[in-house]
Amino acid sequence: MRILIAEDDVVSRRVLQAHLTKWGYEPVVTTNGLDAWAVLRGSDSPRLAILDWMMPSMDGPDVIHQLRAQPTPEYVYVILLTARGQKEDIVAGLEAGADDYLIKPFDAQELKARIRTGTRILDLQAQLVAAQTSLREEATHDHLTKSWNRAGILDILQRECARAVRAHGSLGVVMVDIDHFKPINDTYGHMAGDEVLRETVRRMTASVRAYDSIGRYGGEEFVVALPDCGAAAAFQRAETLREYVSRKPVQTPEALIAVTASLGVAAVEDAEECDYQALLRAADSALYRSKAAGRNQTTLASPKEIASLVRPVRN
Ligand code: GH3
Ligand code: MG
Ligand code: MG
Ligand code: MG
Repeated sequence: MRILIAEDDVVSRRVLQAHLTKWGYEPVVTTNGLDAWAVLRGSDSPRLAILDWMMPSMDGPDVIHQLRAQPTPEYVYVILLTARGQKEDIVAGLEAGADDYLIKPFDAQELKARIRTGTRILDLQAQLVAAQTSLREEATHDHLTKSWNRAGILDILQRECARAVRAHGSLGVVMVDIDHFKPINDTYGHMAGDEVLRETVRRMTASVRAYDSIGRYGGEEFVVALPDCGAAAAFQRAETLREYVSRKPVQTPEALIAVTASLGVAAVEDAEECDYQALLRAADSALYRSKAAGRNQTTLASPKEIASLVRPVRN
């Protein structure tokens, strides 16, 4: 683990460097506050810093002030080294944002123990961040297919709608429902059904652009967000989605299973306003028409239909 040292006194600096190296750390050595700040601001900076209080150009508390005012992506644990032993000074150092302090001349064993405390806290923080990331992933993604889940795709639609309005641009929404999916479960079992769902998402993912988003809206229903697609482009992309899904039967351990899907499309163009829920409702009713007309087809909602589904905003 790398540890930043900022110390202008040559003797103290060498002692620190020697100890850290002996304990298995990699010291990154600077001789003043400005250089220390440059290292901390740089990419992939050390996550633990030992800063002298009194240094030319920028003192230890100044560096900490800057660091806490412009937080780095990963938390930096700071131990302030000070010749001062006055209570007020220590309080001032901690208030500046130091995590710990050590009074010079320091005891090597005490420094070692305080560094270990720092690394323990950094480890805890890394665990927290990892847990937070995985919670966020779970809250927005579907376990089975790894696509966005309902909450995730709704969030994206809402954002894309707002963006379309800002840019007076367009947004296409596609609703996809696998045809006669229940008989697949009934005939080949739930596991085969699950594999059909996974493969359907893989095929849809292969068919769309990198900045399109696919979400599992319900059991065998999916929503696809197509930024910058007006009605004609969204319809074309939906047709491509449909072809990809049905191109060849899905191989499952149980059987080779033919799959088709019905789709509904709704889009806004030159958006002055955009109601993502109205788009979804319009795509859903277009999908219903695809089903009624015999399935394995795509239907486009008319602008009039979309407008009729906008619910007035109540003040
Ligand atoms: P339609 O062509 O009208 O859409 O008919 P359908 O059979 O596809 O539609 P229906 O809504 O009757 O059936 C959907 C089925 O999807 C029922 C449900 O058991 C199944 N299902 C929902 N979630 C899952 C899942 O996670 N795994 C599996 N294997 N099946 C699921
Ligand atoms: Mg000094
Ligand atoms: Mg279905
Ligand atoms: Mg359905």
